[in-house]
Amino acid sequence: MPKSAPSTVNRAAPLERIRAVVGDRGMLTDGADLEPYVVDWRGLFRGVTPAVVRPASTAEVAAVVKICAETRTPIVPQGGNTGMCGAATPSPAGTEIVLSLGRMNRIREVDPLNNTITAEAGCILAHIQEAALEADRFFPLSLGAEGSCQIGGNLATNAGGVNVLRYGNTRELALGLEVVLPDGRVWEGLRGLRKDNTGYDLKDLFIGSEGTLGIITAAVLKVFPRPRTVVTALAVVPDPAAAVALLTLLRRECGESISAFELISRLCLDLVFKHIPDTRDPFGKAHGWYVLAELADASEEGPLGAAFEHAMGLAVERGLVVDAVIAGTEAQRRSLWRLRESVPEASREEGMVYRHDISVSVSRIPDFIPTAAAALDRSFSGVRIICFGHLGDGNLHYNAFVPGRRRDNPSDRDATDVFRVVHDIVHRFGGSFSAEHGIGQAKRSELAQYKSALEIELMQMLKRTLDPQGIMNPGKVLP
Ligand code: FAD
Ligand code: ZN
Repeated sequence: MPKSAPSTVNRAAPLERIRAVVGDRGMLTDGADLEPYVVDWRGLFRGVTPAVVRPASTAEVAAVVKICAETRTPIVPQGGNTGMCGAATPSPAGTEIVLSLGRMNRIREVDPLNNTITAEAGCILAHIQEAALEADRFFPLSLGAEGSCQIGGNLATNAGGVNVLRYGNTRELALGLEVVLPDGRVWEGLRGLRKDNTGYDLKDLFIGSEGTLGIITAAVLKVFPRPRTVVTALAVVPDPAAAVALLTLLRRECGESISAFELISRLCLDLVFKHIPDTRDPFGKAHGWYVLAELADASEEGPLGAAFEHAMGLAVERGLVVDAVIAGTEAQRRSLWRLRESVPEASREEGMVYRHDISVSVSRIPDFIPTAAAALDRSFSGVRIICFGHLGDGNLHYNAFVPGRRRDNPSDRDATDVFRVVHDIVHRFGGSFSAEHGIGQAKRSELAQYKSALEIELMQMLKRTLDPQGIMNPGKVLP
């Protein structure tokens, strides 16, 4: 892997040159101002930076990167800083600038006939959703951090979220990109085409590359007809196998209208009720497993409601559903979603949690859950498992609290023993140790452990080709 910049470079000179490009408004250097940019959302990674640079245009990003290339100054691109793997946190060495895209937050174009939105990288995800709704369209990317994560970060991590089942990952939602390359040149790939087989698909290199190959400055995104009929239900299921059977049944009865299918274990809800204000159990008593399902249809008078009721009737008959609440209003729908989306926040409040973001085939989920639970239990007495996630995609956040382990103890924080137990089983099941959150600095050792030597070699070749000086987010992704 290319080495990061040598430590002999004069750091003062690039910073003054960068200030001349972005102005005082575009540069933070005071300790207190830097603080939010040097710690990750989970509070697990802390770095040091001489400056946070906040360019306001693609031309400014390009000029800054050119200076960095000339002076071999390493750059950490940063969006909303909500990532789960420390990918946007600078190293403790204090040599890397943070390049924050937050000021590049314009929607450049909405084209309802082409069903596309062109947005700058620093647009907050929720603002893009709103811009789509204003044009009577729907941008389906949706995740718990949508009020603060940015589309550039979503693209750079190929974020998943709750609607992947129907609309795909961020990769499937992007038609074109504008990218500042590590030498400061701008790749103008902002095409809104659904068909374009003119050689290698370059945008797919940058999507999911976690800022290691270039800086995404804008994207053309797909939008869809706005759902007018939405059915949201929280169902009690006897176990994960019943949940998978319910998904199959809903697919048969309601077709492609299923947009979200989330599994939630009781322990998740207990943490939400404990730590998140104004949340309550919609059922009279506790149950072991829940599914939050959402179905949506673009037509107002469609048969979706009837089809869903019929499917749920069958599910109850077959013992797949024990109880259910169906949202009757938008407020009720939001409060059901809040239960699901508050699980990461509630877990963070509870203490240090080992977060897994695994995927296996949907069919193997019912076997995976107890197998991993038994293995964790054997290795870590008293372990508590917070199992929830995007069951429809075979993606679970299979998180674990280990008694006595604390965030403020570095050896607990850096321990990989819990990962190893879970990821070895994932590997045996033919799954992925990082389904949607990426690698960052948190999972580099896992990449080295589970990716083949050939895959790692190909990734390193791409890195060297695009970023021969190794200035773009060094120390991330590659082992
Ligand atoms: P950051 O954290 O700022 O950066 C992430 C990576 O992208 C870093 O490598 C950074 O260098 C790079 N980057 C950022 N912007 C750019 C750019 N413009 N060009 C190049 N590289 C860039 N993730 C999911 O996939 N699904 C979920 O369901 C989900 N739920 C979440 C719920 C909560 C409560 C939280 C806190 C996080 C959740 N996440 C989820 C993780 C996170 O929100 C996503 O990974 C998100 O896409 C990160 O966006 P960001 O703008 O915060 O990026
Ligand atoms: Zn998720």
